[in-house]
Amino acid sequence: MASNSSVAPWRLTLPEHIYQRLSKHLFPGDNDEHGAIILAGVCESDRGRRLIARELHLAIDGKDYVPGQRGYRMLRGEFIQSRIVRARDMRLAYLAIHNHGGTNSVSFSPDDLWSHERGYPALLDIARGMPVGALVFAKSAVAGDLWYPGLRRAELSAAAIVGRCRRLLYPAPPTGIKHQEVYDRQSRLFGDAGQDILRQARVGIIGLGGAGSILAELLGRVGVGEFILADPDRAESSNLPRLIGARHYDGMPPAWLPAQLQNWLRSYKVDIAARNIRRSNPKAGIKAIRRNFLDADVAAQFTDCDYLFLAADTMGARLLFNAIVHQYGIPGMQVGAKIPVSNSGDVGDVFCVARAVRPGSGCLWCNGLISANRLQDEAVPEAAKRGYAYLDDSEIVAPSVVTMNAVACAHAADDFLFHMTGLKYENAESAWLRWNSRRNRLSHDEPRSDDECLECSHSENSRLGRGDYFVLPTRAG
Ligand SMILES: [Zn+2]
Ligand SMILES: [Zn+2]
Repeated sequence: MASNSSVAPWRLTLPEHIYQRLSKHLFPGDNDEHGAIILAGVCESDRGRRLIARELHLAIDGKDYVPGQRGYRMLRGEFIQSRIVRARDMRLAYLAIHNHGGTNSVSFSPDDLWSHERGYPALLDIARGMPVGALVFAKSAVAGDLWYPGLRRAELSAAAIVGRCRRLLYPAPPTGIKHQEVYDRQSRLFGDAGQDILRQARVGIIGLGGAGSILAELLGRVGVGEFILADPDRAESSNLPRLIGARHYDGMPPAWLPAQLQNWLRSYKVDIAARNIRRSNPKAGIKAIRRNFLDADVAAQFTDCDYLFLAADTMGARLLFNAIVHQYGIPGMQVGAKIPVSNSGDVGDVFCVARAVRPGSGCLWCNGLISANRLQDEAVPEAAKRGYAYLDDSEIVAPSVVTMNAVACAHAADDFLFHMTGLKYENAESAWLRWNSRRNRLSHDEPRSDDECLECSHSENSRLGRGDYFVLPTRAG
């Protein structure tokens, strides 16, 4: 048998509700050892491999978790067997779990490692290409050993518990975090560790128009280290009042130039945003994609972000954003503003919204915010659209004002900051924010969730936590 070669470390995303149940099971206060299995979706990206916990199977002491042959205790064969087969059939990774004592650091014992070496080659055969491995928890730490086909194996670098706030668990407390002088005032709130989390964060912004350009400005300023931006459009003269960081010529090249050349000279919105981010943070890593988010290869760039912002208002983008949040365990925020003006010029309630969409809740589909009719309309190619009388509504150019976008975006960026640095209250309102500018009124919409929803629920066939082996609703090529 070839000796194990080690590969790059992997990461784990643990939805809050799974972690809560697991933690109660492992640490009931008896200082004993307990077991469980997690089945997890797999996400491969340029950052390496990340698993997204989808299912938790608790092992009952004495029945599923029994005295071990060599170690103290072990998961019983029958308990493992049905789960590894399920992992194979659903294209999920298999993770066996137990706990040790201790608090802030943890590692596998020699007996643990012996049992992996003895058991995992056979499990890999059953799993048919899916990774298998183990996690060992202490109260505030976790270590992991993951095996891939070919007996390659890798250590866990960190697990992110994702709920209202995000908490990171490591095998041992991280060291060497430096104070960044430029962010001194923020560090006084978030701590150097919090500021470092922002530096390491990868944030996706979908749509870099009025709202997206404000998000880019705010998040660039606070020191987010990595951006993925997607928008296929170039700036128009009528965008200039709302595009943060845009210069006059980005949207209005000299009028004496031939029209085609003028068009060619107009800047892409993603490039304006990237330039603007670099202005405040030259070290930021930025992937500026001049393409539609709905293209499969563009959407794939967003599946390993730490947080997503949806600032594009098509139904297709909503559907896909919502799917990525749930399928890949990435919290997100949809922002938008609406100014209803009737044909006769009457102005209705002017409002903006910031809707937090967390994996497993706050689903845009459950809340009727994704219209199947409008999805169909959007699937019709532009040229064919003009023949449809009922589409006239969408041809009317909607009013839009920078200040209203700013209200929604400031709130969304704020939520991101407190979420990432772990300062969000666990019991914070999950309601969606709605600001009505004419009434000076802040209100909240309580999102509902459907137990059978195929997007966000825990039902058998839902996309929740499925990772790469489940189809995303991207645009047909
Ligand atoms: Zn152990
Ligand atoms: Zn749903």
